[in-house]
Amino acid sequence: MPENNVKDMSRRFINFITFVDLPIKKKFRLFSVGVLFWFVMLFVVTMAALFTVNQKTDNIVRDLIPQDRLAQKIARNIQSLNLDALELSRTPDIRSALRRIETSKARLEDISAFLSALQTGGRVNDYSRENGKLIETFTTSPVRGDLAGEKYVREMTTLQGILVKKFQAFTDQKMENLRDSNRGNVKLKDYQQTLDEALALSNNYSANTSHLYTENAGTINSTVTYTTTIVVVVLVIAMVLLGIFTIWISRSIANPVKSIIEQIHALGTGDVDLSKKIAIHSKDEIGILSAEFNGLMESIHGMTTFKKVIEEDDTLEDVYSRLGNVLREHVGIDEFLIYEIPTNQNKMSPVFPLVLSDNESFCSPDILDSSELCKAKKTSHAISSMVYPHICKQFQIEQGKEHYCIPMIIGGGTGGVVQLVFDKADPRYQDQHDIDRKVFKARQYVKESLSVIEAKRLMDTLRDSALKDSLTGLYNRRFLQECTENMVAGVMRRGKNIGLIMCDLDYFKQVNDVYGHNAGDAVLKETSDLIRSSVRTSDLVIRFGGEEFLVVLLDTNKDETMKVAEKIRESVQNAKFKVQDGVLKKTISLGVSEFPIDTQLFWQAIKYADVALYKAKETGRNKVIRFSEEMWTGEQF
Ligand code: GH3
Ligand code: MG
Ligand code: MG
Repeated sequence: MPENNVKDMSRRFINFITFVDLPIKKKFRLFSVGVLFWFVMLFVVTMAALFTVNQKTDNIVRDLIPQDRLAQKIARNIQSLNLDALELSRTPDIRSALRRIETSKARLEDISAFLSALQTGGRVNDYSRENGKLIETFTTSPVRGDLAGEKYVREMTTLQGILVKKFQAFTDQKMENLRDSNRGNVKLKDYQQTLDEALALSNNYSANTSHLYTENAGTINSTVTYTTTIVVVVLVIAMVLLGIFTIWISRSIANPVKSIIEQIHALGTGDVDLSKKIAIHSKDEIGILSAEFNGLMESIHGMTTFKKVIEEDDTLEDVYSRLGNVLREHVGIDEFLIYEIPTNQNKMSPVFPLVLSDNESFCSPDILDSSELCKAKKTSHAISSMVYPHICKQFQIEQGKEHYCIPMIIGGGTGGVVQLVFDKADPRYQDQHDIDRKVFKARQYVKESLSVIEAKRLMDTLRDSALKDSLTGLYNRRFLQECTENMVAGVMRRGKNIGLIMCDLDYFKQVNDVYGHNAGDAVLKETSDLIRSSVRTSDLVIRFGGEEFLVVLLDTNKDETMKVAEKIRESVQNAKFKVQDGVLKKTISLGVSEFPIDTQLFWQAIKYADVALYKAKETGRNKVIRFSEEMWTGEQF
């Protein structure tokens, strides 16, 4: 038991975390949310990577490359200034000196222009100072936020100012020298020193920029690598999850549906085990479908078994009680009554459960003698007070009770009624849907039983017509032959006797002759009623011949048979038979014998009764004669 509990708990936990019990619609919604999540993940990762790459590329293309290029241009100009200075210091020619000075000045202006481009950004036009041609044009952004760059610009601007001054001092000295030949060259060294300083500064900055450049390129590279890895991992996870989901869907949806299809297919070919159940693993639509299907199979199984069982039942009573038990146990209805309505009779009687008094039935007792009052019988339709309140006047309304009456259509007429009663106060009958299901199921069972009830009733009628006399309704001689064996065995076992009375109306032929055959028939019928009312219901009255009746008294004591015979004789003698002109008086003669007192052979005992009857006729009629041995003159029976 605890092991089962643990199993059940863990199954419920797994169902909870795998969403097995969620309705399919919600499962797919959850799946969509999952897919969306992974898409958003991919989107965010990719966008972040693109943004980083874009920023770094932007930084390289818009800032670092043009700024580095400007620093290199400044360095080149400084180198050119150095060369100019050397040339200038050597030249003896005043005109070439002046040309060099002009070129150097232009170079200093270029440096100044490049520096201001680095400070404020904008377009840069680079002209060759040798041939005056445009080398290149590009745009740069100002150096901002980059500490090394800002420092470079600041220091370079200062140096530029110094350079201009030192260049001026140097050229002034040079021009003086040229005019005033061969004086010291101190200013050149001073100028060159500053030039070297500026070159070192520019080279330094250039190196720093290229370092930054490499760093950014590295960042781009690693960003691309990371992003690719993340995208691949996310895709792999998403694929694995999709795979798991597909397997899970196929297991939780496809497999149960497949078993249902297989069962339905088997049902179609008739090769089906109806008691086989589909395993239920979830509470979603599939679980519900499986449960409903199991329920359906169970009811088909129950129905098929029910029909087989009632077909093999011996009597109608067995069938009715079987139907009643099924309604109680399988359908779950507590209060109901099965009524039987005999063909061509305006009567109905409860057959299951056997009702002992009127107040045990739900309807007015009037319906028992006048079945036409029963609405279900009269209309041959199901009558429900839940559809139309107070629909049937015969239903004795009890607070909160509702009825549903199902007519049993047999041989074109209503051969019975199954009345279901639901107490709405009962918590089990609160749900109308549940009641409807019970009613539906009950109707199915009633429907299944109809053909069996009809066949059994037909059999009973056929049996009656073969074993009963149609005029008097008494059993015939054939019936006696059929039941002799059982009856004799029973009496012998109990050590009791059977009393036999053979009766024959006196001068009956005259009735026919005087009043006609119909009057004769009426007298016969009335006589049979007289005899029947003179004996117990457990005794048998048989129409033995034309106007001969045999009374078989079971388990009699000594002398009892004679008393009964005398009672019959008296009742006939006292009876007034109605004929067209008035009344008729008749008498009857009776012969009595007892089995096994007179003989061990039952049919011989009957013969002895007949012999005694003959004696009664012979000795004056209207009398009872007990058989005695000396009356028997015939051969061995
Ligand atoms: P008793 O027995 O006193 O000797 O005289 P009985 O007139 O009764 O004589 P019997 O037994 O010979 O006559 C029987 C008559 O009963 C003959 C037959 O026409 C008549 N009978 C037999 N079966 C029927 C029947 O089903 N209906 C009518 N109306 N008559 C019948
Ligand atoms: Mg007679
Ligand atoms: Mg007779």
